[in-house]
Amino acid sequence: MYLLEKAPAKINLSLDVLYKRPDQYHEVEMVMTTIDLADRIELIVLQEDRIEIKSENRFVPNDERNLAYRAAKLLKDTFSIQNGVRIYIEKQIPVAAGLAGGSSDAAATLRGLNKLWNLNLSTKELADLGAEIGSDVSFCVYDSTALASGRGEQITELPPPPACWVVLAKPAIGVSTQTIYQNLNLEDVQHPSTKKMVEAIQQQRYEEICSQVGNVLETVTLRLYPEVKQIKEQMEQSGADAVLMSGSGPTVFALVQQESRAQRMYNSLKGFCEEVYMVRMLGYPQTLD
Ligand code: ATP
Repeated sequence: MYLLEKAPAKINLSLDVLYKRPDQYHEVEMVMTTIDLADRIELIVLQEDRIEIKSENRFVPNDERNLAYRAAKLLKDTFSIQNGVRIYIEKQIPVAAGLAGGSSDAAATLRGLNKLWNLNLSTKELADLGAEIGSDVSFCVYDSTALASGRGEQITELPPPPACWVVLAKPAIGVSTQTIYQNLNLEDVQHPSTKKMVEAIQQQRYEEICSQVGNVLETVTLRLYPEVKQIKEQMEQSGADAVLMSGSGPTVFALVQQESRAQRMYNSLKGFCEEVYMVRMLGYPQTLD
């Protein structure tokens, strides 16, 4: 038995950190949506009791450290599954980029094996299991637009935002999420209004969404990595409707409604940044330009 599952990247339209909890996790409020940049997960059921994992990407571990492996192991152990699985990951999402690639691979594996192993789990049940693997996995299980709160595992679904293009650029640096959080001083940041962002999405007001984008982690990453700031400025000058860093970075994205302008921005960024993408947000009727 064989199944292909898409694992799309996510971007944060807003990301707020409220405080550090006694359990050392940060209490967050994140509005996230999926974009049309996705890994491809191939799942093949094995009669033997083992999990095989493979990806050609040299930054992705081919063993039990892989989040997709952990997802399969979690389902196997929780439901005493005797069969094994071969997981092949065709990576399109840049690694350690702030786009939740690993979490999305884990979520796609949960969704796929739920079907292949006939577990009949609801999306909520899968998302709760996903939270054991990582805070972003629950959101990725839903594969939509949502408000994620708690440590990121409490999901309130939202309608998809109005149609637009997303231009993404990832500078050739690695950013450790842990380092960014360690350098975060919550008294010294501008908090985005999660409430206003949620309302703007519910009311489908594109301009309001653009004016409400915000990410508290930007202050830290931009200070530590000037190249991220440079890309942000370049996008702002190229006529983006909104520009924001996703997650803890280093990927920066621009929202642009006009296709020709998005294309020009993509071309000019290609000049000095190796990893640039122009994609659409997922999950709405396509009426662009
Ligand atoms: P987040 O936004 O959730 O912090 P990210 O996009 O910054 O995630 P990932 O691409 O998920 O980061 O990768 C972070 C690390 O996780 C990588 O350095 C890699 O070693 C490890 N990893 C484990 N499994 C995977 C996977 N399936 N794909 C990519 N990275 C993985």
